[in-house]
Amino acid sequence: MSADEKLKSFTESKELKQRMDQIKHKILVLSGKGGVGKSTVAANIAVTLAMEGKNVGLLDVDFHGPSIPVLLHLEGQQIRTDNESIIPVDFVERIKVMSLGFMLQNQDDAVIWRGPMKMNVIKQLLTDVKWGELDYLIIDFPPGTGDEPLSVAQLIPDSDGAIIVTTPQNLSLLDVRKSISFCKQVNVPVLGVIENMSGLICPNCKTVINVFKAGGGETMAKEMGVRFLGRIPIDPLIVEASDSGKPFVYHYAKTEAAVAFKKAVEPLLNMHSGSKTETEKVIHIHKKENITKKVLKIAIPVVEGHLSAHFGHCEEFAIYDIDVENKNVLNQENAPPPPHEPGVLPAWLSEKKVDIIIAGGMGTRAQELFTEKGIQVIVGAPAEGPDELINAYLNGALAAGENICDH
Ligand code: ADP
Repeated sequence: MSADEKLKSFTESKELKQRMDQIKHKILVLSGKGGVGKSTVAANIAVTLAMEGKNVGLLDVDFHGPSIPVLLHLEGQQIRTDNESIIPVDFVERIKVMSLGFMLQNQDDAVIWRGPMKMNVIKQLLTDVKWGELDYLIIDFPPGTGDEPLSVAQLIPDSDGAIIVTTPQNLSLLDVRKSISFCKQVNVPVLGVIENMSGLICPNCKTVINVFKAGGGETMAKEMGVRFLGRIPIDPLIVEASDSGKPFVYHYAKTEAAVAFKKAVEPLLNMHSGSKTETEKVIHIHKKENITKKVLKIAIPVVEGHLSAHFGHCEEFAIYDIDVENKNVLNQENAPPPPHEPGVLPAWLSEKKVDIIIAGGMGTRAQELFTEKGIQVIVGAPAEGPDELINAYLNGALAAGENICDH
């Protein structure tokens, strides 16, 4: 790279960072397959967040079939610019929209886009669109794990994560697994899975007809250790709303589907500014302290097959060896701890060369003792099975809450 090119690349990254720093949360919406309602979900998540008083941007980076302009009846909008910036379109109060559809006047143009060109356009969109201060930027992608999500994963390395949309039948679920693996590979945390088109409520007798089966998304999410954000039923009003460009969750706020959207969005509302999943925090500390271990040992206190809320009173520790690069479990053993006495566990786990502890609750003194021994502690993990917690950790989706026990 020539000196000029280096300078250009540096200034571009700086501008991108400055723009992204004005946005508290960046969320990717992915799906393994087309037609599962990903864009509908992305748009309705944006509207639900706006209805909660948040300032939201909705960015559609689908080169081959940008559907956000159609869903929101914004077709034919022309791009406006102001000095060096692109002005997003105001959809409703608190929602700004930018779509490649505003730029690609002719859908057939899309065939000429190749990977590196797409990356450049996406970089320009992220850098040049004048969103201003936003609480959330929701990014809608084409289905699959192609150049578009890969570019965004590289351009926004600190995104909050991805929501994966699926329908309940096995064929779609297979693709979701690919989306989850993709997120793992590119270090994008999985915020959760939404099962869309999950059952049709008969408008006459209110019986639920499971057109595409039901519950598959939830089972799969559990298996893969990612959060299940909820089921959105099939509702003809969703089609009607999107065909007429009305924000569904706003116009039909009382429907079961709108209520399900509201519930699915709750974890997003509870994310703290700049909050990272526990996995990211650990990666961050490791980077900072220059820890370059290839294999990490993670210990989880277990009682009756699930995480023990009271750290000092577990039956055994499930100890995993993790291949950091490939994010795999290499080995697992269960070890009963020595009889409980203050100070004994830090010494014992340090002898076992444990690097990280995933705990429910732990007193501050015990945490200090572990830190002194170079062991990191994640507190507030949910009372789930140790395998599920490890999967969540590996998928970057381990969400830790309050330290539920302080003794
Ligand atoms: P994708 O982005 O996955 O290709 P879209 O969001 O464009 O899918 O949705 C495809 C079609 O399905 C649209 O006509 C949309 O209105 C409809 N749709 C999406 N979700 C639902 C739902 N829960 N109930 C009824 N129709 C839906």
